[in-house]
Amino acid sequence: MSFQDKSLQCSDCGQEFIFTAGEQEFYSSRGLQNEPKRCPQCRRARKAQRSGSGGDNYTSRY
Ligand SMILES: [Zn+2]
Repeated sequence: MSFQDKSLQCSDCGQEFIFTAGEQEFYSSRGLQNEPKRCPQCRRARKAQRSGSGGDNYTSRY
């Protein structure tokens, strides 16, 4: 199975971003079925926010 770059829209900032073939492969290898909803920048921002607020546990799964 081969993957192709795909353009998605970020649900946070509304900007289009590319869900690359490599990322799709990575997602699929991890058994993740959902496409990312946010662009890399917003994902990073959220991650930084979360890790900045203390505990690193998986308490905020959704
Ligand atoms: Zn975004």
